[in-house]
Amino acid sequence: MTRPDTVWVLGDQLNRGIASLEHAEPGVTRILMVESAAKLASKRFHRQRLHLVVTAMRRFADELRNAGFEVDYRRADSLAVGLAAHRREHAPERVRLMEPMSWSMLHAARGLDVELIRSNQFLCHYEDFAEWAQGRNRLVMEDFYRWQRRRLGYLMDGDEPAGGTWNYDAANREPPPAGGIDRPPRPTTRRDDLDEEVLAALPDSSFGAEPDGTWATSRRAALARLRFFIDELLPGFGPYQDAILVDDWAMGHSLLSPYLNLGLLTPDEVCDAAEEAYRDGRAPIESVEGFIRQIIGWREYVWGLYWLEMPDYARRNALGADRPLPPLFTTGATGMRCVADALASVEAHGYAHHIQRLMVFGNLALLAGVVPQDVVEWMWASFVDGAEWVMVPNVLGMALYADGGLMATKPYAAGGNYLNKMSDACGGCRFDPKRRTGDDACPFTTLYWDFLDRNQDALAGNHRLARQLAAARRLGNLDEVRRRADEVLDLLDAGRL
Ligand SMILES: Cc1cc2nc3c(=O)[nH]c(=O)nc-3n(C[C@H](O)[C@H](O)[C@H](O)COP(=O)(O)OP(=O)(O)OC[C@H]3O[C@@H](n4cnc5c(N)ncnc54)[C@H](O)[C@@H]3O)c2cc1C
Repeated sequence: MTRPDTVWVLGDQLNRGIASLEHAEPGVTRILMVESAAKLASKRFHRQRLHLVVTAMRRFADELRNAGFEVDYRRADSLAVGLAAHRREHAPERVRLMEPMSWSMLHAARGLDVELIRSNQFLCHYEDFAEWAQGRNRLVMEDFYRWQRRRLGYLMDGDEPAGGTWNYDAANREPPPAGGIDRPPRPTTRRDDLDEEVLAALPDSSFGAEPDGTWATSRRAALARLRFFIDELLPGFGPYQDAILVDDWAMGHSLLSPYLNLGLLTPDEVCDAAEEAYRDGRAPIESVEGFIRQIIGWREYVWGLYWLEMPDYARRNALGADRPLPPLFTTGATGMRCVADALASVEAHGYAHHIQRLMVFGNLALLAGVVPQDVVEWMWASFVDGAEWVMVPNVLGMALYADGGLMATKPYAAGGNYLNKMSDACGGCRFDPKRRTGDDACPFTTLYWDFLDRNQDALAGNHRLARQLAAARRLGNLDEVRRRADEVLDLLDAGRL
């Protein structure tokens, strides 16, 4: 009699449609899942992230058991220890594993004598991305996105883009409306015995508020979150995508990234639902195009870039930034209202929306010259949707320009005026976004000019920044700006800003 095969399912492969389960049959295939203590304790993770991953894994194991599979769910010191124990107990003929999401895990898996199955978790496999990238001078996201649109057929009317335009980004950068935006309350899930069991066993090192039901931990609940987004938020998703309101932690964002990243939702079903809403006249093209671009454009682009550039990508530091992560990132204590507000959202939900990640946290770290790898570590541990493949290009590449312009054509550096335009945080802040010098000058404004001054040589060849670099050279009070910047950086290092 032949011994059953094992399919090993990782914690971010939680979907019946994954390629390794394609030919799996109850009674013939045994499933292995390993909860690794080493992974859970490898960083100071947010409690809600750990809770989400572990609970979702256990619920997926139950889903497979209910479908008739035998599931060997192990808690082990590490993934390799769990696999070895499984092999000793069940002696499978072979162990099949779908390609892991991270570079290091893929390389580790190659040494574990497992049969690797090509991943189907993205619409563009990284080998296909590499083929697309071959021979191009620049890997421009918009080019990739249009290639994906044509290839996948999303929002296409024959050979033409639906609505006549490829990209509605210009319509999606409205400043926040005075008085906020009315939206229906988000769905939440009540905690059950499994949630409590998982929470009680989380490592002591974890931080952050207890889960309040915001994050779904099963596919069924994730599908309900998708439905809510499509019906209630997608129609208004477009215009305020880049805006920040201090009393609105999620704005109109979908909050779907953790489900996509863990496999609870798939990118095609999410895009199908959005396109259907457009075709049925339930959501305008500006919003639907903007949303689908995030998924088949940005998300798949950073995935492809990660694989193309690893392992070197994770080590890059093009601007030679050498400041350790300032204490405010872990204490949450700062007088800068936009930063304090975004940190409060991370504490409460393990989440900050895109523009807070990029223009508040990323911008502050860029302007202050924080070591890119420190920022990656902090975000990876702090966000519910963190993972290496998505953090490295977004943090190192997009936010910190540490890849020297591979991903972003110029650094996303901005002073207080930008934040004042795109958020309502400056109103109640003790700092003045218009001032460059003096005790009440907005640190973003001071550091913005100081950043341009400090990086004149490093950024000299960047034509998109030429005007700003020239403006910095012409500043009448440059010495005063430099002096204030030194004070600001000292206060930042001391946790007193
Ligand atoms: C500095 C920085 C750090 C980030 N860290 C993460 C992270 O840890 N995990 C993560 O999934 N995304 C990350 N992103 C990308 C993006 O900010 C998040 O995907 C998004 O904020 C998640 O919230 P949402 O689901 O409400 O997004 P929405 O605004 O509703 O967007 C819809 C979906 O588009 C996808 N998406 C949009 N932009 C990107 C992008 N640049 N990269 C990848 N996917 C994208 C996500 O899947 C998201 O769910 C980061 C971006 C920056 C600039």
